[in-house]
Amino acid sequence: MNKKSWAEPYKIKMVEPVFMSTRSDRERYIKKAGYNTFLLRSKEVYIDLLTDSGTSAMSDRQWAGIMLGDEAYAGSENFYNMEESIQRHYGYEYVVPTHQGRAAEHIISQILIKPGDFVPGNMYFTTTRLHQELAGGTFVDVIVDEAHDAESEFRFKGNISLTKLEDLIREKGANRIPYVCIATTVNMAGGQPISLKNLREVRELTNKYGIRIVHDMTRVAENAYMIQQHEEGYSGKSTAEIVKEICDLTDIATMSSKKDALVSIGGFLALNDQEIFEEARNLVVVYEGLHTYGGMAGRDMEALSIGIAESVEDDHIRARVGQVEYLGQRLIEAGIPIVLPIGTHGIFLDARKFLPHVPQDSFPAQALAAEIYLDSGVRAMERGIVSAGRNKETGENNYPKLELVRLTIPRRVYTQAHMDVVAESVINVYENREAIKGLNMIFEPKHLRFFQAQFEKIV
Ligand SMILES: *Cc1c(COP(=O)(O)O)cnc(C)c1O
Repeated sequence: MNKKSWAEPYKIKMVEPVFMSTRSDRERYIKKAGYNTFLLRSKEVYIDLLTDSGTSAMSDRQWAGIMLGDEAYAGSENFYNMEESIQRHYGYEYVVPTHQGRAAEHIISQILIKPGDFVPGNMYFTTTRLHQELAGGTFVDVIVDEAHDAESEFRFKGNISLTKLEDLIREKGANRIPYVCIATTVNMAGGQPISLKNLREVRELTNKYGIRIVHDMTRVAENAYMIQQHEEGYSGKSTAEIVKEICDLTDIATMSSKKDALVSIGGFLALNDQEIFEEARNLVVVYEGLHTYGGMAGRDMEALSIGIAESVEDDHIRARVGQVEYLGQRLIEAGIPIVLPIGTHGIFLDARKFLPHVPQDSFPAQALAAEIYLDSGVRAMERGIVSAGRNKETGENNYPKLELVRLTIPRRVYTQAHMDVVAESVINVYENREAIKGLNMIFEPKHLRFFQAQFEKIV
């Protein structure tokens, strides 16, 4: 581990004032929002840790790039800059721009998946799995068991279980498996990385059976940094070199540039196979826009091409992950139960251990997120029984093993002092946890209930 401080490799040039509410303001706001942090207005929030998606601060260079937007319908100069940046930093040859990551997932799923196919992956992401299913495929989780265990401190919880993968190939047949989907890092496991050793073994196995690898590269730089820090033989390599090495082991990539790549919107499909590229370039015209903008403005493609270069710089990524680790360490020192090891994009509070006296039917993680907001104006999100929804057949609640509150850190946005406020608030709520009794659900929407469900406090 590098002992130097993770201090930010930039200084602040422009600020966005935030509203400093009082506790009585927040009591009104959260009640009106039905104790659901998704229903708060952003201006009612002091420190917004709802998500790291599209919430990054852009650099002065990126903003300068915005002014160079070439909004030509066809052949925008910004597209060629973006294409060149992707080729240089990730190594994929062909690029299809899309409005977000899920659009790239849609296109590649439609091209490669046939009804009845199986798509193994290192855990699922919501939109990724949905597009696989919409194309007629069935997602199969082949991640290592450690990923499902909040207590395991295994360093590479994003790894694929080679036995699970090979068993699946043998059982279903290689011709029913269009590709293996590999996410760097694994969001739903708490921002956990896959090792290069594991990825290389997956490559060998898939080569043996002639199966492609599709890379969900949403947080590839964060994954590469964890390899540099923790995998044997990589401490002397730069993040940029490791990113390249990861991409070189895969065939096709889908990207949500709202995460790693430091922009508010955008994504792409990148690949090396010319035939699939031609098909994707044709489909993008149907769903997104012409193949030289695919749902993005020229100015956004320019900001993205610069953001990609900044995202793989060691100093940047060290400060980004360093800040997450700083918050995690402060909470660990105070004895707060969190998912270990600390991931790359956020801290996940273990609400079961935080509120052992609140039964899962009283929504402990939802209640905890509401209490943290009440205490300090910090907005987190629930990842537990509310998010897990109901069983489609029985209509009963699903009871997930993990009952978590996610504190997701936007890139380059908040300071160390902000992280101190967050830690102090979580510690304060922990000290007063006995008083928290949980919530009753008073409104439940039909789909993805966590976004719009409303609750009232049990007193
Ligand atoms: C956000 C995300 C996506 C989807 O990207 P959007 O830009 O939100 O459509 C896919 N995979 C992972 C791992 C993500 O975090």
